[in-house]
Amino acid sequence: MAITKKLQRMYQCWSVPPQPELKLSDWFFPRASMNATTHWSAPVVWNGTYKEEVLEKYYANHKITVGLTVFAVGRYIETYLFNFILSANNYFMVGQRVVIYVLTDNFSKVPWIELSPLRTIKVFEIKREKRWQDVSMMRMKTISEHVVDHIQYEVDFLFCMDVDQVFMQKYGLETLGESVAQLHCYWYNAHPIDVPYERNKLSEAYIPIGKGDFYYHAAIFGGTPMQVLNITRECFKGIMIDKKNNVEAVWHDESHLNKYFFLHKPTKLLSPEYSWDHHLSQTDDIRAIKIMWALKHYEFVRATQNV
Ligand code: UDP
Ligand code: MN
Repeated sequence: MAITKKLQRMYQCWSVPPQPELKLSDWFFPRASMNATTHWSAPVVWNGTYKEEVLEKYYANHKITVGLTVFAVGRYIETYLFNFILSANNYFMVGQRVVIYVLTDNFSKVPWIELSPLRTIKVFEIKREKRWQDVSMMRMKTISEHVVDHIQYEVDFLFCMDVDQVFMQKYGLETLGESVAQLHCYWYNAHPIDVPYERNKLSEAYIPIGKGDFYYHAAIFGGTPMQVLNITRECFKGIMIDKKNNVEAVWHDESHLNKYFFLHKPTKLLSPEYSWDHHLSQTDDIRAIKIMWALKHYEFVRATQNV
């Protein structure tokens, strides 16, 4: 009896007082604009709709590590990788532990960048696909393999991004979620009838006219490692079935990602401020650009000769 009491007292000493879980209403204050929350109640995060202090206080007691995968193959290395990593070091998840996973076909060209504390970079060599479309699509396979092999043990949340973009401002805790999708800045105000979903019924990415919610940009998606595993596995499955049937979706991996998020709704959406093309005229909606597209030098970066 005495021993039980002693154990109880010891347990009381060890146990941390329960921390209240973070509720959406604690930190999210949507603007009265049409894209505030989706019809399945997922928040659409715009600049000014979140309380950074609340999030920072919560995560100060709930330490997390955030991963970021980026592919740089062929000329995408020298054209984009330096600015991507440098800007991620400055703005991505400031104050949190971060692991940047670089997947490249040429180790020797990866730039040396001194990172801030709490930031690590891990570089992996991958095989180069001949066609740029395949480089883009095969990312789904490579990400899923890396999540299984090691990323699942290393991070709590994972983002997967294109390299041809640059962080401009803090990209922080407000973006974290179970499964996170990026509204494509060309189509965020468009009706789903008008967006470029795959319309060929023979493709696994097919979405019928009149269906669909939003058009998402494949340059940024994320979530917990398990959700990213589901996303990338399913997209890759669709891509391989299409190859077997000799079809290719109009926007490659992006078409398959849109099909995935049509079937499995993302739990959080990011406003186009989180991936903006400066060629677009900025409306009043766009208040703070977090990531800007880099210039697309397609003729150079996608040329396969002399590389
Ligand atoms: N990529 C690469 N080398 C290539 C083709 C693609 O490294 O030859 C990677 C890179 O991360 C790039 C992403 O795949 O950002 C998607 O390709 P891209 O940005 O050209 O597609 P877009 O954004 O124009 O649709
Ligand atoms: Mn891109």
